[in-house]
Order: sequence, then structure tokens, then C-alpha cells
Amino acid sequence: MLKTAAIGLLLVFSGCYLTLDGNSAALPEAAANAKTPAPAATPVVIDDAAFSKHREKLEQKLKGRGFTVLVEKPFIVVGDEPAETVRRRSANTVKWAVDKLKQDYFTSDPAEILEIWLFRDKDSYRKHAKEFFNDEPDTPYGYYSPSNKALVMNIATGGGTLVHEIVHPLMEANFPDCPAWFNEGMGSLYEQSGEVGGHIHGYTNWRLPGLQKGLQQKIVPTFQKLTAMNDTEFYREDTGTNYAQARYLLYYLQYKNLLVKYYAEFLKNRTTDPTGYKSLQKILGEKDMNAFQKKWEAFVMKLRVGTEPA
Ligand SMILES: [Zn+2]
Repeated sequence: MLKTAAIGLLLVFSGCYLTLDGNSAALPEAAANAKTPAPAATPVVIDDAAFSKHREKLEQKLKGRGFTVLVEKPFIVVGDEPAETVRRRSANTVKWAVDKLKQDYFTSDPAEILEIWLFRDKDSYRKHAKEFFNDEPDTPYGYYSPSNKALVMNIATGGGTLVHEIVHPLMEANFPDCPAWFNEGMGSLYEQSGEVGGHIHGYTNWRLPGLQKGLQQKIVPTFQKLTAMNDTEFYREDTGTNYAQARYLLYYLQYKNLLVKYYAEFLKNRTTDPTGYKSLQKILGEKDMNAFQKKWEAFVMKLRVGTEPA
């Protein structure tokens, strides 16, 4: 999920509620889609002094309230669990995800310092989202708010959503005008992830059964249609399968060892192929995309949550 403000208006993009238990819902998205081509991302370096200053300011503001504030570049992690727990999450989830995502995909950090707020439970999450950001979250799990330069998480729901949300600001810093299908596909792929051969690896997860049901009902659009969706169409989730379809397309590319290659190809050709469809065809080496879709469907139908294909 992503919340964004642009041109002074608060536009709420909503994705699926990022759950680890199988619930998903979509909200309308009011984003204008008038996009001008953005220049290629230029690396941004924010110096150590700026991070320290930001941390000190937050420590002052939160004094005596039981928060731990840590610099975990390119983020500042803030949490109200015991200090040791905040430290562990910062190292094992935030740093791990950033390092692993950079290893395969991203070269630039976000242009500004972003805060990651890890609230210890539902009450803390709701109370502080209101107090600090004047937000009333429409998801129980967490969200990224570019306007507040913050990822706001109910960390009691697990680290999966946190990794999903970390993908978004990194994508924003590295992939100008990345379409929602690819941004959310990447976020969703890594919301259930670990390490294989030293690289980040997405595993099957709760989004699979809904996709399999959609395939049985023959409501899942073609990849040409999915990739051509503008953000409004994607987030509207007419069939309720967009996130899952995007996720399991990328899961298939990962399975074929083509995902890192696809990311680079899509990024390189984004001005001539902004949907990524031609790059997809090229990387797959498929002339007949209908035949490919059938092959992919058969692959997806055989998947089971909790087991990975050999
Ligand atoms: Zn998302």
C-alpha cells in the first residue's frame, strides 16, 4: 500500500491491505495519471551528519515516551517495543531487506531521509498514526506515506508488510514512473521472502489461493491488459486478482532466473516500453503470449502455499 500526496492534494493510492493471513481488500485510488517523463534517477547521498541530526530531533520529540530511534541508512527506524527488539528488527528486517534489494536491483537511495515507525501493537499504531501524521489508517498492517516521508507499521502483524513497503521508496528512487503493477508485484513478491544462494527470494504466500480461484473462474486478465493498466485501474482491483497476478508473474520470472534481468531490461527501456510488456516478451523469449499465459497458468495452478517448486 502506498499513500501519496502530489501537488498539494492528498491522493490516496491504496493497494491490497497487506496481510499475511489471506485478507485482502482494495480501495479506490484518486491519483491523477497525468505523468510527464521523469529523468533517470541520479544517486543521492545524504551525509552522516544529516542522519544524526534527524535522529536527535526525533529523540528530543519523543523523550520519555519509550521510543528507540536508530539510524539504519537510508532510513531512520523508530519503535516503541523494547530497545533490543527495535534493534533486532532494524538489523534483521530493515537492513537485511535494503542490502538484499540493493544487491539485485537498486543503486540509489531515496532523495530524502525516510522514517520507519514500528508501532508495537494495533492501539499504538492507530494512536500514533493520528498523533504524528494525522492519519487514520485504512489498513491494519502498515503503509508508506510519501507525503510524511514515513513508513508507518503495526509491527505486531509481522515483518512481511515492512519488507513490502520498503520496496516502494526504493523503487521510487530508482525506477521513474514505475507502473503500479510492477511496483506492487515487487513489493508483494518480497512480503514473504528469505534468502536463497545469498539473494533475496520470494516464496509462495497467501495471495496464491485467490489467484488460483480467479484462474479457475477465468477472470484473470491477459498480461497485456494487466501491464497496460494505469494506476487507477490497477488499484481498483476489478477482479481482485491484480496484486496476485503481478506477484506470481514475477515469481515465475524468479523461478526461471529471469527476474533480475527483467528488472534491468524494463528499467532500460521504460521510455519506449512504459508498461514493460515488450521487455517481458523479450526476456521470456515468447512470441506467442497467449501460449505463455497458458503455460504460466498451469505453473500457478500446481503451486501450493508453503512449498516451493524445485
Ligand atoms: Zn504496496
